[in-house]
Amino acid sequence: MILDHPVATLKYVGHQRAARLSRLGIQTVGDLLWHFPRRYEDRRQLKDLAAVAPGEVVTVQVTIRAWEEREVRPRLRLIRALIQGRQGTGFAVWFNQPYLKRQMPPGTGVILTGKVRYRDYRPEIQVSDYEALGEGDPGLHTGRIVPFYALTAGLSQRWLRLVIHLALEAVAGDLPEVLPLSLCRRYRLIPRLQALKYIHFPPDAAGLHQARRRLKYEELLIWELGLNLHRVQQEQGRQGIAHTPANNLVNRLVDSLPFKLTSAQARALAEILADMEAPRPMARLLQGDVGSGKTVVAAAAMVKAVAGGWQAALMAPTEVLAEQHGRTLGQLLAPLRLPVVTLTGSTPRTERENILAGLASGQLPLVVGTHALIQDDVSFKSLGLVVIDEQHRFGVDQRAALQTKGECPDLLVMTATPIPRTLALAIYGDLDISVLDELPPGRQPVATYVITEKQRPRAYRLIEREIRAGHQAYVICPIIDANDGVAVEAATAMARKLQEEVFPGYPVGLVHGRLRPAEKEEVMNAFREGKIAILVATTVVEVGVDVPNATVMLIEGAERLGLAQLHQLRGRVGRGTAAAYCFLVTRGSQAARERLAILTTNRDGFAIAEADLRLRGPGEFFGTRQHGLPEFHLAQLPGDSHILEQARQDAREICRQEGPSLEYEALYQAAREKLAGLHF
Ligand code: ADP
Ligand code: MG
Repeated sequence: MILDHPVATLKYVGHQRAARLSRLGIQTVGDLLWHFPRRYEDRRQLKDLAAVAPGEVVTVQVTIRAWEEREVRPRLRLIRALIQGRQGTGFAVWFNQPYLKRQMPPGTGVILTGKVRYRDYRPEIQVSDYEALGEGDPGLHTGRIVPFYALTAGLSQRWLRLVIHLALEAVAGDLPEVLPLSLCRRYRLIPRLQALKYIHFPPDAAGLHQARRRLKYEELLIWELGLNLHRVQQEQGRQGIAHTPANNLVNRLVDSLPFKLTSAQARALAEILADMEAPRPMARLLQGDVGSGKTVVAAAAMVKAVAGGWQAALMAPTEVLAEQHGRTLGQLLAPLRLPVVTLTGSTPRTERENILAGLASGQLPLVVGTHALIQDDVSFKSLGLVVIDEQHRFGVDQRAALQTKGECPDLLVMTATPIPRTLALAIYGDLDISVLDELPPGRQPVATYVITEKQRPRAYRLIEREIRAGHQAYVICPIIDANDGVAVEAATAMARKLQEEVFPGYPVGLVHGRLRPAEKEEVMNAFREGKIAILVATTVVEVGVDVPNATVMLIEGAERLGLAQLHQLRGRVGRGTAAAYCFLVTRGSQAARERLAILTTNRDGFAIAEADLRLRGPGEFFGTRQHGLPEFHLAQLPGDSHILEQARQDAREICRQEGPSLEYEALYQAAREKLAGLHF
């Protein structure tokens, strides 16, 4: 198929230019055709030379009458043509392109685009694009809606337009339609070849719109079908575990809680329990705003596994979080007399050996841990449920590594990153989703203030008031990237300053990524026990903790963080019933302050995430550490969510059909290819 041929097989593409194209990620003719324009210029309006005004960018149709050439300064040659329109004459100028004189000898008709100035009372066009009206000229560069592409050094727009035009001609007879006719009809989508032609060389605005619609739908459908196939593949021939339908033990846990489950928790739990009972392997995402109470839901799922004689494991991204989950689960499950052990990189050797033995023999039903859980020497007798907390911090391979410790155990992943549902579908299309869209009752909204240096003393006074009332505070000096030594220094200096100058009477603690795990744990314990009044911290991760007595948080340099991240951080306070406060300190611009102000009026993580996504775009939103966000050529999220939703439904429907008809073969093929390039 021509689409798969290397670009160098095209006319005008030599080895050198092929190498340059590869810098744009273009290897094949197909890649080239899917290198869509970044923008367009409408050059359809042909002006008369006599009617152009200085400063205007115009497109005119003229005839070359004569050429002159001179050196303005060394290595800068001016090429100037006397041009004639239907009415009046003028000049056209180029620099350093003497070959134009040969290419377009006097008498040649030409369309020129460029900026106008006046010289000797006559218009002079500084040509940005031109096209000779010779026979067989495709008319690509001017006199039409003209595409502009992302380029790299050594490639020109003109050349790329021409090569793409030739590629379009080359594939014309050999471009498989991937969408079945029925879908094209249903959505009134134009054929694939036409869409490709129109996206590069739109006849008009409507044509461009149709091309976009068609190509977006195509890529989203292929993506969604790929995800579906992935899931089918995962399940194929793999009998999952049908956990016991008896819920006595789960009910005992729920009854022993000091609170009633929120209806969101109850709903999510019911979904999870039903999933676990089905023989199909569960792959479910539990998504819930910070503080929505995911831990209890996970605990109940783990209890269900244990009730049927299986083991359950929970993996968290840091030791601090693992220790915390271990402790929380231990307390929750104590009434059921279920022991919970914690395994991390700092677990002492003998304890570790005991844990490994207990997991292998099946004596230990429940384990919480870090990456330590996926070490080779960890094995389970009968691992039936895997829970992953803060799933975006793990690679998909790590998630899989824990799963392979059992025979197709059920999988529950949890995230507090409030990803808008539509986007979650795109990213985790291979997962089912349960959402906790409700906070436990009695929570006070965290009163949030955007403040500048000047207002810092007031914030400090409030912190002091809270501490005197027996509460605790966080001061966050956010780390921006993994090796941010500056933040560590800033936090260290901040801790010293707070201790020595601002709050000399109260114990100040410091935790940051450069501390050894045992040191971190020590500080966190002291904070949890109330021995530290003010905790200075660098990272989001280290404060992923539950200390309900903490009621104030002050975040330095807040403008450098995303809203969703800030919202997560702030969720560390306001976990009890006492009033809670959050100060966002910024030296940022007016715009930055306005962005932060969204947090002062909004407490819904999902709404904040949507706003953040709109303001910063998905790339920024997810940061570089979070993989899995698909790259689309054309579709943009969340803007094109409605198309995504449609494609998702269609993909499911297609997958449900018995024995795909021939009509779907090309689509399946495309989805399989897409799938092969994905990293799950
Ligand atoms: P997250 O979803 O952020 O992980 P947690 O599971 O840490 O939230 O729960 C936050 C706090 O809310 C914990 O102290 C937990 O005990 C409490 N909690 C959870 N569910 C409820 C509920 N239904 N009613 C009251 N408090 C709850
Ligand atoms: Mg949590």
